[in-house]
Amino acid sequence: MTVLSGGPAVPQERRILTAIPGPRSQELMTRKKSVVADAIATVLPVFAARAGGGIVEDVDGNRLIDLGSGLGVTVVGNAAEAVVRRLSDQAAQFTHTAFSVTPYEGYVQVCEALADLTPGDHAKKSALFNSGAEAVENAVKAARVYTGRQAVVVFDHGYHGRTNLTMALTAKNMPFKHGFGPFAPEVYRVPLAYGYRWPTGPENAGPEAAAQAIDQITRQVGPRNVAAIIIEPLLGEGGVIEPAKGFLPALSRFAADNGIVFVADEIQSGFCRTGQWFACEDEGIVPDLITTAKGIAGGLPLAAVTGRAEIMDAAHAGGLGGTYGGNPIACAAALGAIETMKEMDLNARAKNIEAIMKPRLTAMAERFDVIGDVRGRGAMIAIELVKDRATKEPNPEAAAALAAACHQQGALVLVTGTYGNVIRFLPPLVIGEYLVNEGLDILHEALEARQ
Ligand code: PLP
Repeated sequence: MTVLSGGPAVPQERRILTAIPGPRSQELMTRKKSVVADAIATVLPVFAARAGGGIVEDVDGNRLIDLGSGLGVTVVGNAAEAVVRRLSDQAAQFTHTAFSVTPYEGYVQVCEALADLTPGDHAKKSALFNSGAEAVENAVKAARVYTGRQAVVVFDHGYHGRTNLTMALTAKNMPFKHGFGPFAPEVYRVPLAYGYRWPTGPENAGPEAAAQAIDQITRQVGPRNVAAIIIEPLLGEGGVIEPAKGFLPALSRFAADNGIVFVADEIQSGFCRTGQWFACEDEGIVPDLITTAKGIAGGLPLAAVTGRAEIMDAAHAGGLGGTYGGNPIACAAALGAIETMKEMDLNARAKNIEAIMKPRLTAMAERFDVIGDVRGRGAMIAIELVKDRATKEPNPEAAAALAAACHQQGALVLVTGTYGNVIRFLPPLVIGEYLVNEGLDILHEALEARQ
């Protein structure tokens, strides 16, 4: 796999010149500590100088293999050529007018692209925002106005953001919710088909979890009170969990039968990440609304709610929006990112990354008992670490230690999961095949060193 679009000329090779962090990063970290809120934590204590393709270069000249894409954002790599060109051109024209004051074409073009790319051939409309959490909040607003109902159903292990409503929608307490309540009302959480941890086995997880979820909604909330069911078709922060087969179709059918707006939160899983434009396509789901962000704009802050025109049009004029939503530079970047995804066929590249990673990780799981599960699709892959394969007791200590060992060797991996025991890989889709393999070599060595 060659690197077709790497952005700035960052050599596509790992290079470790100093300890991680190096002296310049340490200096900057000292300055950070004195002026940046401690709650703004960092995965790695190295400061970036430039990035492109599959490499992040730090201020000490170390080059790290990027297996995290800045939290799943840089699907097209950092500073992809079409993104830089289009956003620079736009910045030279104007940076902002507020779409709700004097609109501009870029916003409309992004909404046209979203209508075209998202599943379903019904009439679709979009509204643009700045962050994923903002998109999810606005999906709830649209669903509530459209249905005249209030309740929102979400799932165990789900993650939807850190604003007040989205904290309520998010499952995990630490670090996302702890101490920040009270949370928004009318949010109900139901079971998820988490195959690896389903008591009667992964093959039963889909139908059994769907039956439990539907039963809980029916008994505890009442379907006619539910405005929206919101689910990530492939859960990210919860631990890269693919809901077991049958679960999503059952929930989507239940929503349709009961006049509930079915919302797919594709903020992490969308835009080629899983080898399809949207992860919900895997089981042929056509959501009523889709929320997107992250990969949509090549690193610029942009988010969207896209869906059935009648739902998106239900709110009164001025009811949705904000000062910066759909900023013209972010829209230009999105058009560049989408152009790159199509031209480079990044769906095929995501599948290629899966074809490299899954067999190698599976082989590691055969050798190292600490790996309880290997899962994910496309370039959204993870290993779940356990203390004991029989009990599946989570092993967050091993995840932290392995990630730290990888970081020291220059492979940027992320730890996630409800139990903090999942190492996830979200490489940019333009990364070179050899860098993916080298990252896996580093992980393998770190596992070996634990033996
Ligand atoms: N929804 C999902 C599925 C996410 O993965 C995230 C971020 O990780 C969000 C919502 C929140 O997005 P943001 O951090 O842009 O607010």
